[in-house]
Amino acid sequence: MERTLSIIKPDAVKKNVIGEIISRFEKNGLRIAAMKKIWMTKEEAKGFYIVHKERPFYDDLTDFMSEGPIVVMVLEGKGAIAKNREIMGATNPANAAPGTIRKDFAENIERNAVHGSDAPETAAFEIAYFFSALELL
Ligand code: UDP
Ligand code: MG
Repeated sequence: MERTLSIIKPDAVKKNVIGEIISRFEKNGLRIAAMKKIWMTKEEAKGFYIVHKERPFYDDLTDFMSEGPIVVMVLEGKGAIAKNREIMGATNPANAAPGTIRKDFAENIERNAVHGSDAPETAAFEIAYFFSALELL
């Protein structure tokens, strides 16, 4: 059993495909341990993506992530981190495999519909960024 953080980004929330995206997680055997819809401030988005602070896309990315509501979820299941990344597809939708969320819903390398933790350490940081212990019971 493993847990990972998933975000449905502002572009996908605007497209009204929250349900379609969530059903893909469920159909692939992941369970939703916690979930909420929130709207991050620019500062909150910068804190979430702090690992990317030196990257050239950091300012644009954090503008995008704070432009509208998002859905944050904790997904759980066997190998949840890798499984979620597989269901999401490559960062750039042009390179994403058929049937992945990013292939079907992403607009471009920035506005790419979903986020998923990439390792146990980032999953722990990212889950704690949005959810308290009580919300995870
Ligand atoms: N991103 C971007 N330009 C790039 C690479 C990434 O705008 O050249 C954005 C994109 O929204 C991506 C996020 O920054 O999802 C985090 O980048 P990362 O390399 O961690 O990709 P991910 O783990 O989301 O696939
Ligand atoms: Mg990443």
